[in-house]
Amino acid sequence: MYRVNEVYLSIQGEGIRAGTANVFVRFTGCNLLCAQEPGPKSPGGFDCDTEFISGRAMALPDLMEWIQVEAKMCRWVILTGGEPGLQTTAELIEAIHVAGFMVAIETNGSVELPAGLDWITVSPKVAEHCIRQKTADEVKYVRSHGQAIPKTCVSAVHYLISPGFDGIHFDARNYQWCVDLIKQNPNWRLSLQTHKVGSLIR
Ligand code: SF4
Repeated sequence: MYRVNEVYLSIQGEGIRAGTANVFVRFTGCNLLCAQEPGPKSPGGFDCDTEFISGRAMALPDLMEWIQVEAKMCRWVILTGGEPGLQTTAELIEAIHVAGFMVAIETNGSVELPAGLDWITVSPKVAEHCIRQKTADEVKYVRSHGQAIPKTCVSAVHYLISPGFDGIHFDARNYQWCVDLIKQNPNWRLSLQTHKVGSLIR
């Protein structure tokens, strides 16, 4: 059984695949508890803005049916959470492929993922020595004012930094800081959380 918070069709808001339609499968549960203040489950720096406690237990056929209903013409599924790596199995990846979808995942990097994923985004929320998923299509770090460019242990095709943003107030200081970091480190590129723009214009 899988524990699932929600399944919905939406636009990927960040990273290299930003702007594309995807079915998001948001799994319940995370092995971390990211917070501004450092703690045993958080290196500190920012507060988690995702509700990952609620959800329902689902068998794989029911989950696949939900994905199919949401998908319409969309052919990409993104596994997210919480931490989707806790529930991503070879069986799940195969079932999604058999149904005709590509599979992407957004992980905090703290668990090693099974083979077969079509796109891996590692967005580290742990210290570098605790990262277990060390290869990715893209690696993306949230950076706030004063934080240096990461010294990442993840080998990726694309390296991104994302200005810290609480989804309520656009933080111009974090944005300008990240722009300046990229000017000095041109192997990195800027990723904005465009899915949060809606909350700014409402
Ligand atoms: S890894 Fe992501 S979902 Fe888990 S606590 Fe941190 S920010 Fe929240």
